[in-house]
Amino acid sequence: MASTAGKVIKCRAAVAWEAGKPLVIEEVEVAPPQHNEVRLKILFTSLCHTDVYFWEAKGQTPMFPRIFGHEAGGIVESVGEGVTDLQPGDHVLPVFTGECRECRHCKSEESNMCDLLRINTDRGAMIHDGKTRFSKNGQPIYHFLGTSTFSEYTVVHVGCVAKINPAAPLDKVCVLSCGICTGFGATVNVAKPPKGSSVAIFGLGAVGLAAAEGARVSGAARIIGVDLNPSRFEEAKKFGVNEFVNPKDYDKPVQEVIAEMTDGGVDRSVECTGSIQAMISAFECVHDGWGVAVLVGVPNKDDAFKTHPMNFLNERTLKGTFYGNYKPRTDLPGVVEMYMNKELEVEKFITHSVSFSEINKAFEYMLEGKSIRCIIRMEE
Ligand SMILES: [Zn+2]
Ligand SMILES: [Zn+2]
Repeated sequence: MASTAGKVIKCRAAVAWEAGKPLVIEEVEVAPPQHNEVRLKILFTSLCHTDVYFWEAKGQTPMFPRIFGHEAGGIVESVGEGVTDLQPGDHVLPVFTGECRECRHCKSEESNMCDLLRINTDRGAMIHDGKTRFSKNGQPIYHFLGTSTFSEYTVVHVGCVAKINPAAPLDKVCVLSCGICTGFGATVNVAKPPKGSSVAIFGLGAVGLAAAEGARVSGAARIIGVDLNPSRFEEAKKFGVNEFVNPKDYDKPVQEVIAEMTDGGVDRSVECTGSIQAMISAFECVHDGWGVAVLVGVPNKDDAFKTHPMNFLNERTLKGTFYGNYKPRTDLPGVVEMYMNKELEVEKFITHSVSFSEINKAFEYMLEGKSIRCIIRMEE
């Protein structure tokens, strides 16, 4: 057992004191893990749009002070009571959604939407006792997505921790915690493009590029990137995108443009923008008879999906997915193995890297649209 087990750990954390204000590196106290919890030493973390969205806190109930961060790799420091399948020293990826292995969803082969540990952006404390494990001078600091990885140590529910191959480099595979698996899984687990097929990807951000990577790995012949920003196309080629459509270049709906390019429609499409118009286009651009569209992007609260029902009668299928249909504890170790076997390429997602003390730079890179993923090195 580590000498720190059962004790409060003082360490550095990047605290968001107010919405939209730079994070401040503070010395915080991290309480020991309680029932079904583990305390992790985070070695690498990366920044995802979801962190930025909740840090900006426009249109949501603000919850501050808070420690953000949910894509990360680390090592188990100590485990709480009731934890049997993890031990100090295990290499792990914390995940913003969980797998309790006891609820109906976890017992179903078809679902990854755990009743107990499904993503909850409004929860700022641990499920076990409703308290935070972070504090500074006695003031509680809220958790984020049950992970709070912008801290040298964090406490996470055991159901939100995937144990991985200790040979996997944590500074690379940490990006598999969220966005990359979301896009990649949407293609390989849900859209399932046959070899030689055509796939349209709407939105060429990190998730869309991961969806394209899934199409590339599946052996799709035509991967059509759809984005309003033409500067994304050059980068997207590395992910297998070999044709590009900018809806702004046409005076007709993009689904018609794609149907003309592909003799009636693509075999598969994956929507990664969250724009309701893009969702409708993604569905209406698939071929009748066999086409499948998969929605990944998160829509606005008041959006409604409108299409003619004939599109369904003509045997097009519309699906949606959460976290690429991966069960975090069961499936993530296998995704890491895909990387280790050089099937899935992860390095090309990592465009920047900063030390922990420079974490605010990672926010700048993302807000300027410069980075796909920026790794934050916790030990520097
Ligand atoms: Zn994320
Ligand atoms: Zn469950």
